[in-house]
Amino acid sequence: MHAPTAPLKPSTGHCIFCDLIHGAAEVSICYEDATAMAFLDIQPVNPGHVLVVPREHYEVLQDMPKTLATHLFEVALTLIPAIQTASGAPDINVVVNSGAAAGQDVMHYHIHLIPRREGDGFDISLPFGASLMPNRQQLDGMAARIGSMLRDPLARGGQKKS
Ligand code: 5GP
Ligand code: ZN
Repeated sequence: MHAPTAPLKPSTGHCIFCDLIHGAAEVSICYEDATAMAFLDIQPVNPGHVLVVPREHYEVLQDMPKTLATHLFEVALTLIPAIQTASGAPDINVVVNSGAAAGQDVMHYHIHLIPRREGDGFDISLPFGASLMPNRQQLDGMAARIGSMLRDPLARGGQKKS
């Protein structure tokens, strides 16, 4: 069992997932423990589309304590074979839309587990067709910048989390 390590972050405004977690609205739960819950998406890409959420309200991945974020991925790993068997879908997309610009609509952190079948019409297409191809110097430059941010927590706004 996982114990929360960070103080509770207050929710800003109304949150539909907090309502579901607190039993204030209908939800089909397939997993729960002390800190995590998983339920069926109300508008599934395919049958068996599950959302894994923390019980506490955190908006985006980087807001979460590392232990809780890791726990949610452990829950996802436990759920995936069960979802595949129950849905009969052979493959799965694990998706996190972290932040509005990344397509997050419900601002309570969640991991999508999306069962996939050949020809189901859903598409998260990578590589992105509209990408500009950077040269090696540009790729190396970005890799070096990221590496230096990792070595210098102050340069990234003291966002280091344990
Ligand atoms: P996002 O775009 O934030 O990554 O995804 C939000 C997901 O939450 C969508 O797939 C949407 O169908 C699902 N969703 C939104 N409202 C509800 C709800 O009231 N109940 C459930 N079970 N899922 C919801
Ligand atoms: Zn919430």
